[in-house]
Amino acid sequence: MIQGFDTTAIHAGAAADPATGARQVPIYQTTAYAFRDADHAAALFNLQEVGFIYSRLTNPTVAALQSRIAALEGGAGAVCCSSGHAAQILALFPLMEPGRNIVASTRLYGGTVTQFSQTIRRFGWSAKFVDLDDPQAVRDAIDDDTRAIFCESISNPGGYVTDIPAVAAIADAAGIPLIVDNTLATPYLCRPIEMGATLVVHSLTKYMTGNGTVTGGVVVDSGKFDWSASDKFPSLSAPEPAYHGLKFHETFGNLAFTFHGIAIGLRDLGMTMNPQGAHYTLMGIETLGLRMQRHCENALKVAQWLENDPRVVKVTYAGLESSPWKATADRLYPKGVGGLFTFEIAGGYEAAVKLVGALELFSHVANLGDARSLVIHSASTTHRQLTEDQQRAAGAGPEVVRLSVGIEDVEDLIADLDQALAKATA
Ligand SMILES: *Cc1c(COP(=O)(O)O)cnc(C)c1O
Repeated sequence: MIQGFDTTAIHAGAAADPATGARQVPIYQTTAYAFRDADHAAALFNLQEVGFIYSRLTNPTVAALQSRIAALEGGAGAVCCSSGHAAQILALFPLMEPGRNIVASTRLYGGTVTQFSQTIRRFGWSAKFVDLDDPQAVRDAIDDDTRAIFCESISNPGGYVTDIPAVAAIADAAGIPLIVDNTLATPYLCRPIEMGATLVVHSLTKYMTGNGTVTGGVVVDSGKFDWSASDKFPSLSAPEPAYHGLKFHETFGNLAFTFHGIAIGLRDLGMTMNPQGAHYTLMGIETLGLRMQRHCENALKVAQWLENDPRVVKVTYAGLESSPWKATADRLYPKGVGGLFTFEIAGGYEAAVKLVGALELFSHVANLGDARSLVIHSASTTHRQLTEDQQRAAGAGPEVVRLSVGIEDVEDLIADLDQALAKATA
């Protein structure tokens, strides 16, 4: 990113349309693209020339979004896909084979814990969950079959922050990539690649689009990992039978992971983003910087207000002086720690459920990162499939309420919490 963040957020990947001059990125609502002739078609299919073939692989609207996100994250390339969970599979797919594992943080989005602890086992992959604040535990968990470390920059739902440079150093020493889910921070608050991450994944569903209209995901590649340094990553370093023995790393250099994501990942797994969704996300990203500033300001004020209220037992926000993560937050996330955190209400499970029902401005939904404020009781919803131990490890115990603080007037949000707390603890 050579220009400033907001300039990049508005301009990257989006010159005026060469065909029509349209200033906004058009929605290229097309499945296929006319080949110039048979040679052109053959060159595209052989990956000898870059172009558009079929929208399961590439689409110009989606490509504009990919360029914009790659620029914002400081990556070499990006591949958009149908959801944040799709992005996680798309990121792991080139790295993994049956029998391989990843080392994953214990503090993750509930759906990710389920995907990693249950679903990926059907592929013969597995995950070992470790507290990433304990470097020796991370080192001990890595074995010969480990192919990546996975964490969230700011983690859902607790809003804890990860010391990415410390974890990246462990990944480097082991010769494996660090994958960072940057959904909650967005590149406005955190640029994991600058801190040593190899790959960044996002649920675009959340802050990046920012208004609860899109389900989407992206994998960003730093372009910095040497896939040929060991024999651990044959999908990228060894001849690929599906492309006449082409070696992705040798052929595409720092774009190997990105090309593989499109030419193998999207082609064969089919978890494609649609051009309409890409358009909404492009619109959303234009205001990402402004929105994240306001999310952070509002969340800090709400968290401070809650912390001083006797009806509240505990608030987790890493921006609070009382947080054990405050020092890490100040060092690595100087612009703020986002809009998401949890608190424990006096009166436990029952009071938590009552509070969620009594709130009027905060919508009770299973989403986050919306312009409007949202609330959820994680233990009975997003983290329901987890054991109580897993819930507590993820910061989503039975008495915990999660807020996604929006960009409304903060006085109105506090007034709503005040009246709902009164009803819940009466
Ligand atoms: C929502 C979320 C996901 C999953 O994204 P979807 O777009 O819902 O598939 C992954 N990670 C985090 C941190 C999330 O908040």
